[in-house]
Amino acid sequence: MFITAFPAGPLAANCYVVAAAAESGAPCVVVDPGQDAAEGVAAAVARHGLSIEAVLLTHGHFDHVWSAAAVAGHGGAGAPTHIHGADRVLLTDPAKGLDPVLGGQLSALLGDTAPAEPHPLVELAGGERLALAGLEFSVEHVPGHTPGSVAFGVADAQDGAGVLFTGDLLFAGSIGRTDLPGGDHAQILASLERVCAAWGEDTHVLPGHGPRTTLGRERATNPFLRDIAGR
Ligand SMILES: [Zn+2]
Ligand SMILES: [Zn+2]
Repeated sequence: MFITAFPAGPLAANCYVVAAAAESGAPCVVVDPGQDAAEGVAAAVARHGLSIEAVLLTHGHFDHVWSAAAVAGHGGAGAPTHIHGADRVLLTDPAKGLDPVLGGQLSALLGDTAPAEPHPLVELAGGERLALAGLEFSVEHVPGHTPGSVAFGVADAQDGAGVLFTGDLLFAGSIGRTDLPGGDHAQILASLERVCAAWGEDTHVLPGHGPRTTLGRERATNPFLRDIAGR
């Protein structure tokens, strides 16, 4: 499995370009093309000769979805964009997912032009298995940071271990904030508990911000996961 990643935008949201192999002409999936991510995606795709088959969004916050329409349309055809139904509204009303101050700033920046929803769009509910780019992605609904947060997993992807794109559910040493609209701290802890039960300790965690880690390392050192393990 081939994964290349780069942080994009003022909030440095990680954007991932994922393929079964980095071979010329191979299909790839783009996870979380957020603010200012389009150029980086275009460069990665050109460098490895990949073609974009789908866009996967871990949740609806603007720093993760901003460039979805541009990236999905890269190359003309319009790759399907996948987002959980509960976060879909944030694609066209990004201020709704932010506190009033940040939301107001974003609205002022946007003016009267609401962002367009990427097309075609696939609404997720959780529990799906998506066959994309020669890989099978499982979709785990992990609400708490936002109501429509999901994690995308690929089993046996690297060194026999799974790979999990956690978005803003889980970071190295921390977890996603739950003080924004739709956030729920008890819910994010329940989501983390389910993920820990379903995925092995050697699972590679590729988060929405910051460095990659493993589930085992987080279970041993992340104070939020230690709480879960001790329950
Ligand atoms: Zn977020
Ligand atoms: Zn984020």
